[in-house]
Amino acid sequence: MEEKRLRIAVQRSGRLSESSVAILRKCGIEFGNGLGKLRSSARNFPVEILFLRDDDIPQYVEDGVADAGIVGKNVVFEKGCEVEVTQGLGFGRCRLSLAAPKQFTYSGVSDLEGLRIATSYPNVLSEFLGRHGVSADLHTISGSVEVAPSIGLADVVCDLVSSGSTLFTNGLREIETVLESEALLIHRRLIGPAKQEILDKLCFRIRAGIEAEKNKYVLLNAPNDKLERIVTLLPGMRSPSVLPLAESGWSSVHSVIGGNDFWQVVENLKAEGAEGILVLSIDQMVL
Ligand code: ATP
Ligand code: ZN
Repeated sequence: MEEKRLRIAVQRSGRLSESSVAILRKCGIEFGNGLGKLRSSARNFPVEILFLRDDDIPQYVEDGVADAGIVGKNVVFEKGCEVEVTQGLGFGRCRLSLAAPKQFTYSGVSDLEGLRIATSYPNVLSEFLGRHGVSADLHTISGSVEVAPSIGLADVVCDLVSSGSTLFTNGLREIETVLESEALLIHRRLIGPAKQEILDKLCFRIRAGIEAEKNKYVLLNAPNDKLERIVTLLPGMRSPSVLPLAESGWSSVHSVIGGNDFWQVVENLKAEGAEGILVLSIDQMVL
């Protein structure tokens, strides 16, 4: 009998932990926070959350200890495990980059030929160098990669970067991006129909949450003679809703707009005569 609960592995403590828990909670899944715990069963959805070291998650998913997991693309690619990528989750963004001491002159990947490169990502880096026909001397170290040049261990490093401040304080400069990363939802290859159904439900909810974050709900009032121009500024999911106000000659317009440029849209709406503009966050958006 196939077990009817989906086991999802998330990072126990680290950069992805909080957002992983948050995205599952946003799907309406209620469970304990896992502090000091290895596992937690959801009260209202057929999932069990396993709190593990992120580096181990791809292997656990391949082996079927977990059915799914949330882990950085960088780790998934490095481990090379036989798992499926369900979808990108839009958080934990960073890049795996090559960085060199500030005085290093760099004009392209071929400049790395024969150099010593320290990294925690030998597989991703080898694949990248191979693709560029370059061979280098890789030193695999598990942490504090950024200090390798200053202690004479390597000429160049290949490490995760988000703001670049760690590189900067170590006198290093980013010279090349090897991999753009974000947190991924992954799942095991042969998952079985019952668990697949739970995974599909979960993905449906995750997508509704991600989509909602990209958009805003806008309400405004406008005099009827300005409506035509205003409606062209608001594409909406289909087209905006226009409802008459109690005051004659005025309407209320409701629509959804992309979150990134909403200030620009709001300024344009105001310029076209919209009044009482409200911009609201959307919780879930099912397309
Ligand atoms: P440990 O395995 O010992 O808990 P870790 O370095 O693997 O440590 P974190 O530092 O918590 O764990 O990073 C987890 C993931 O967060 C990384 O694999 C990566 O996908 C993502 N991440 C996002 N931004 C960064 C960043 N600036 N530096 C490192 N990782 C980042
Ligand atoms: Zn880790």
